[in-house]
Order: sequence, then C-alpha cells, then structure tokens
Amino acid sequence: MISPFTGGCLCGAIRYECTAAPSEIHMLKCHCRDCQRLSGGPYTPVVYIPAGKFKITKGTLRHHVTQSEGWGTHRRGFCPECGSRVTGGESPGSTGLGVPASSLDDPSWFKAQAEIWTCDVQPWDPLDPTLPKYDKYPRGPAK
Ligand SMILES: [Zn+2]
Ligand SMILES: [Zn+2]
Repeated sequence: MISPFTGGCLCGAIRYECTAAPSEIHMLKCHCRDCQRLSGGPYTPVVYIPAGKFKITKGTLRHHVTQSEGWGTHRRGFCPECGSRVTGGESPGSTGLGVPASSLDDPSWFKAQAEIWTCDVQPWDPLDPTLPKYDKYPRGPAK
C-alpha cells in the first residue's frame, strides 16, 4: 500500500483519504451474516483505520445503524447518491473505522491478516488456510 491512500463510492460523489501508515491499519475478512446481507458478497474485506487518520474529502455520508452482537450498535456510512457503502465499524467506544477494500482506488494491495466470524462462513466461500481464524470477534486465541 501507499500512504496516503484514497477511495470512494461508485458514482464519485463520496471521496475519502487515509493518512495512516501501513503498520497502523488492520486488514481482515469478516464473514458474518450482516456483511453478507449488506454487501451482497460472502464477506467484507475490511481495512480498519485509526480515528483521526481518515477523512471524507468530497460529499457527505448518509449513516445507518444496525444492532451489533459485540458492540451494541454498528454505524455505517453510505453514499446518498448511489447507495454504495463507504465506511463501517463505528460503534460506541470504537477507536477507528473501517472501509471495504473494494472501495479503494487501488484494491489490489489488500492482504487480509485474519478471518473473523467464520461461524457464518458459506460453503461457497473458501477460507485461506494460512490466516488466523476467529469464530466471531478476534478476542481470545485464533484457530
Ligand atoms: Zn456515490
Ligand atoms: Zn461482518
């Protein structure tokens, strides 16, 4: 990856920039049912960024909140024009936020460091045998 990196929604109304160093971001694949329903795919490829290292440079997100088993609520930001999901992972007390790797201008550098919510993985979604796996959230030992 190159820092800063940029991304945005499908139509271009929302643009963002991230100034975090490579060592400050975390990358994971979340296979939970919420991600499946929300994304239309089998998992969300998450790039998690510390608060303060991310800013919207164009447009204004529309936020929606759903219930979260681990955090009470989960707040995600969407483009109000095209509906693309641009941010996520914001909960009470969270120290950062996530963007789906698919929203990056160059998604090719995404490299997952862990797979989470493998309890919900679909049979047509092969897991990477080299990555640590967590039934739900990455607390406790990996499998
Ligand atoms: Zn858009
Ligand atoms: Zn998920």
